[in-house]
Amino acid sequence: MKFGTKAIHAGQEPDPSTGAIMTPIYQTSTYWQKSPGDNKGFEYSRGTNPTRKALESCLAALENAKFGLAFSSGMGATDAVMKLLAPGDEVIAGNDLYGGSYRIFTKIFSNYGIKFHFIDMSDPNHVKNYVNDQTKLIWIETPTNPTMQIVDIAAVAVIAKANDILLAVDNTFASPYLQNPIDLGADIVMHSVTKYLGGHSDVVMGALMLNDEDLYKRLWFIYNACGATPGPMDSFLVLRGLKTLHLRMRAHCENGRKVAEFLKNHPKVEKIYWPGFTDHPNHDIAKKQMRDFGGMISITLKGADLQETYRIASSFNVFSLAESLGGVESLINHPVSMTHGSIPKAERDKVGVTDNLLRLSVGVEDIEDLLDDLKQALS
Ligand SMILES: *Cc1c(COP(=O)(O)O)cnc(C)c1O
Repeated sequence: MKFGTKAIHAGQEPDPSTGAIMTPIYQTSTYWQKSPGDNKGFEYSRGTNPTRKALESCLAALENAKFGLAFSSGMGATDAVMKLLAPGDEVIAGNDLYGGSYRIFTKIFSNYGIKFHFIDMSDPNHVKNYVNDQTKLIWIETPTNPTMQIVDIAAVAVIAKANDILLAVDNTFASPYLQNPIDLGADIVMHSVTKYLGGHSDVVMGALMLNDEDLYKRLWFIYNACGATPGPMDSFLVLRGLKTLHLRMRAHCENGRKVAEFLKNHPKVEKIYWPGFTDHPNHDIAKKQMRDFGGMISITLKGADLQETYRIASSFNVFSLAESLGGVESLINHPVSMTHGSIPKAERDKVGVTDNLLRLSVGVEDIEDLLDDLKQALS
């Protein structure tokens, strides 16, 4: 089945009891047992729920994976992956991560004896220098947030395989429409479903997709034991959102390209980060591993201090100043004060997350209105 058909149908059959075409919201915490243990495969909704199960099958199908696990947030999904590790284990991660990922690694899991190396992964050979017998996990985010660097997933997968290290990829920015890390050799794909997958900024959710059955069993154990699983209403909302994922992504990519081209030569724009430009440092890898370049764009403002950046960030009419991304509506974000506030300034400066940086999540509104809004806000 092709992508759009899977987005609409995977994991979903007409409801056996009524014929309902849409998966019902099974708003129940528990299930009847005829005699102890004699049930229909559902016991308690922390572990399994039919609405969530349909969603998990659909999410797995979209990443060409056998298994899917939905979590109550992207951070809940990341937390479960980290709980595969034990004290003394080491992790190699990119140095340009989502702020919340950096925070859970450095403020939570380093207290449990796990050691992190945050490195520039734009050259995969660099990863080899940090591999040792304790290395158990490599954590990639690509495109990176917010500077849109591209990591060569297939090249890092070769290093991970050769050294028996798990490779997890945070695929939130690309979405499965643009990139499928498992096909490139990753073991686990992580998503903040809150973003493109949900697509309407009305749900917080996370997911893991994977192929290996043993790993799935270990992760399901953590998911059920620790309990960061989403409820049926949210699962329903994401199933509904997924049905238009391919249509939304096409529109995000089309608008993203037009906004990027408009900003590239704008006199107020100092630097622009978007992997679709041929002069982007990793454009060739982006072209190889992604189907298109998406609607996430970051810019730095020429000669703007923090105050001037705040002024411009607050002067949009169609774009909303807000955290998050990937919804149908266009958002503008100031990483230093919003999504990346939990990363120390010295670390932020190293990777170009400067005071004058703004990140755009280009939505699917009419492009003329988006360009007019950018024109007036940057005037
Ligand atoms: C938002 C986000 C997360 C965290 O997901 P939540 O659903 O907010 O918990 C992780 N990684 C990336 C790239 C994100 O954008």
